[in-house]
Amino acid sequence: PRQGLLKGKGSRRPDTGGRGGFVPPFVAKAVNAAGAELELPAKVQELLAGPDGELPEALQRLDPQILEMVCSEILEAGSGCTVSWDDIAGQNRAKRLVQELVVWPMLNPHLFKGARAPPKGLLLFGPPGTGKTLIGKAIAANIKATFFSISASSLTSKWIGEGEKMVRALFTVAGALQPSVIFIDEIDSVLSARKSEGEHEATRRLKTEMLIQMDGCDPSAADKRVLLVGATNRPEELDEAARRRMPKQLYIPLPCAEARQSMVERQLGPGSSVQSALSEADMRKIVEKTAGYSGSDMRALVQEACQGPVRDAVAQHAEKLATLSEADLRPLNIRDFQVAARAQRASVEPSEVKRYEDYDARHGARY
Ligand code: ADP
Repeated sequence: PRQGLLKGKGSRRPDTGGRGGFVPPFVAKAVNAAGAELELPAKVQELLAGPDGELPEALQRLDPQILEMVCSEILEAGSGCTVSWDDIAGQNRAKRLVQELVVWPMLNPHLFKGARAPPKGLLLFGPPGTGKTLIGKAIAANIKATFFSISASSLTSKWIGEGEKMVRALFTVAGALQPSVIFIDEIDSVLSARKSEGEHEATRRLKTEMLIQMDGCDPSAADKRVLLVGATNRPEELDEAARRRMPKQLYIPLPCAEARQSMVERQLGPGSSVQSALSEADMRKIVEKTAGYSGSDMRALVQEACQGPVRDAVAQHAEKLATLSEADLRPLNIRDFQVAARAQRASVEPSEVKRYEDYDARHGARY
């Protein structure tokens, strides 16, 4: 007997004798190995069960506990998908390409068939902290899709032994809640070409399952639009089978000068309430000195700089700390950035950038 099987549709439906009598709402239940009934986890009930309490057919064969993990840990509801293209600084080439390649086809599947069919999956590669996850979220927000986000390394570490089941459940739930975007970070950790000596049987099965599920993805399917977006910092480690399934590989590089400026301006903009005394010349200096910084480095740098005025205020009036407000702080200046830059340096080595550029020249999608 299999554990955690869900009883099939209608298996507890009372016999109405074909007289069209009242049918009480049916609540999907799980049964354990001993045949005892388990309540369906609340999260699964809330997100996946229909108004009659039944799970869609495709989900009934899955382990309810695994379904719950997918719903509570991988599915990003609501707020995760409010990212707009404007929230992503720079990356103009990638943004254009992504919209044409996958957003348009998912918005109008009828037009994008045959020769115009979109790729099943998309690979975003580049250094960490450059906006790959943001792009995944913006795609989902744009097509009002359900967004699923998982780090592939957690499939082998956090959910040891359950990875294969998780992958199957994840893609099945994504199909049920379509249109969906599945974002898989560090995808190389599951689809790596490297065969370690004692490659675990579980690891091999996980990889096979992932490839099978990727085959089933179709962003322009009329009734089951699922797009896979993989992200990696080590694209060269992917094996051929993975590359075939993500034929479009987009380089997401470090932000250019203009993008870095826009990140600083945005973080210090009207919503931030931070008083700034930065002149245009100061801004040019900041942009120049941050060549090689990633988007997340920039974010950390600005946060660090914003501490400067607070440190000064506390140094002068430590006793007032609890009642300090923004109005008591001196405006942010270039010196704060100079100090911050000592603590927050670029996290990506120039040699790594060269590696990405070489890979891009060989495999990157062109526009
Ligand atoms: P990764 O490329 O590793 O997926 P993320 O998209 O998770 O990077 O970015 C991490 C954080 O860095 C974001 O939440 C955001 O604050 C900042 N960031 C990175 N790239 C950009 C960008 N292009 N525009 C705006 N913010 C960015």
